[in-house]
Amino acid sequence: MRDTKPGRNKPCPCGSGTKYKFCHYAIDTTKPELPNRNIFNMNLEGREFLNSLMHLSRQGDIPLHEVCIESGIYYFRSITIDQFQVIADAFAVEPSSVIELLFEAWEKTNDAEYFNRMLENSSNISPLLKKRTNTISQIINNHFNEMYETAIPASFMVIEGLFREYNNVSFEENQGANYKFDLEPYENTMLYADISATSYFTKFLNKLMTGKPTDASIHRNSVMHGVDNDFATKQNSLLLLLTIFEFARLETSLKLWPPKPEIRDGKTYLNGYEIKMREYF
Ligand SMILES: [Zn+2]
Repeated sequence: MRDTKPGRNKPCPCGSGTKYKFCHYAIDTTKPELPNRNIFNMNLEGREFLNSLMHLSRQGDIPLHEVCIESGIYYFRSITIDQFQVIADAFAVEPSSVIELLFEAWEKTNDAEYFNRMLENSSNISPLLKKRTNTISQIINNHFNEMYETAIPASFMVIEGLFREYNNVSFEENQGANYKFDLEPYENTMLYADISATSYFTKFLNKLMTGKPTDASIHRNSVMHGVDNDFATKQNSLLLLLTIFEFARLETSLKLWPPKPEIRDGKTYLNGYEIKMREYF
């Protein structure tokens, strides 16, 4: 037991020689509590089993989050369990390889079929996304045709529009925009782990939309003002597409909770909304 909280950037007190945030921080701060509630109709044993699983996954998750924050990106968890395992194992050996592996995994999992299907699903549920279907569909198209110089500015416009309309951008006098994703509505519907992950999303979003000209990572102002000459990369384009779909995931998740799946006439519905699943063959 430690009396005082070590600094996240200080060496871990366990003596591993690794920064605290990449080592025992995850173990010390993980709160693997299931939210609420009665929707989990399971006995104590089941709950304990699920809690211990979450605990394990958070120990892998938190260090990956930290690497992403240091690199100015958000840890989109849209990867498979197998991919997660590979990346978590690689982290233990060579932490600097994580970003490259994450982009590889995102690229593999989030193909054109995935984005188009998710767009269709999300548009059925969210009016904010519905009225932007054509624009987002063109962004997906341009991205997969390697037209990043077209896809990226359009993505910035969509992200800005979504958040303004979602009423989460405040403008203070003599200051720039402040992007804030309000987590309160999610407190009762998301796992603790998701809540803490989503607070990182706000941090990432602010940097993405209001970054300074000196920042190394991509941000709205230098692209839209025409002073970033090197923005049109596949990674930047993918990062912005994933940001749009992270918004979609958050915006639609409230309406899909608690989940009530249903199959009618061979179609899958979730809480009354038709959901298209990936076809495996
Ligand atoms: Zn340690």
